[in-house]
Amino acid sequence: MSDSTITPWVVGNWKMNPMQANSQQLIQDLKQFLEHAPITEQQCHVGVAPISIALLSIQQSLQGLSTPIKVVAQDLSCMAGTGAYTGEVSAELLKDSQIDYVLIGHSERREIFGDDVNKVKAKVSNALNAGLQVIYCVGESLEQRESGQAEQVVLQQICDLAAVVKADQWHNIVIAYEPIWAIGTGKTASPQDAQNMHAKIREGLIQITEEGQRTAILYGGSVKPENAVELAACPDINGALVGGASLNAESFYKIALAFSKQNN
Ligand code: PEP
Repeated sequence: MSDSTITPWVVGNWKMNPMQANSQQLIQDLKQFLEHAPITEQQCHVGVAPISIALLSIQQSLQGLSTPIKVVAQDLSCMAGTGAYTGEVSAELLKDSQIDYVLIGHSERREIFGDDVNKVKAKVSNALNAGLQVIYCVGESLEQRESGQAEQVVLQQICDLAAVVKADQWHNIVIAYEPIWAIGTGKTASPQDAQNMHAKIREGLIQITEEGQRTAILYGGSVKPENAVELAACPDINGALVGGASLNAESFYKIALAFSKQNN
């Protein structure tokens, strides 16, 4: 079971949305909720992952907020440093722009953009070596779940991670369990199914590192205000990675509130 000192994380993955004006509006709306009823960093780490060209403007818009919101990149290059790699943004360049968090291994990147295990490992390694904090996504397809392979697939993804994380880097890892069949489909894993997988991930992590006791494991897949409270009550679910519902400030705020420590 999770260490009770784990601070939950709720991160909004905006994916390839929205237009700049709407993303600024979304941030202004979210700020209003947070200014009216703050969620402190001790209660929950709240983050948003906008499109890459909005990272800096969103970061700028969030300045001065009494409860800081983390700005998270949705991806980064598997190449490190600087160089002749057209279209790429490296871990070092993100860090240089004070973007300290990055999602890696999201199933959409793995499935649509060819992020195979070697690329994912290179990205994790580059991110950690540059001092970024990584939200590492794992999850099985419907076919894998139905054929009884879900646990094996997810634990293999944790082993892939362990192959590149150095002993003193585990504190910079957050895991997001996102069953692929639940992403953007409206189907959520039942709290019991999600909890079972989170407990397996926790067991796997503890076998690899002492830090596994304290690693936040987020659930992702059609999280909404309506199911957040039940998911948040599960002992090994330490937050959420939220897609669709993060594009609405009120929904996202309610999800963050449901996971925030004041309620658990
Ligand atoms: C996601 O893409 O990370 C996600 C969880 O999406 P949704 O909440 O829309 O299922």
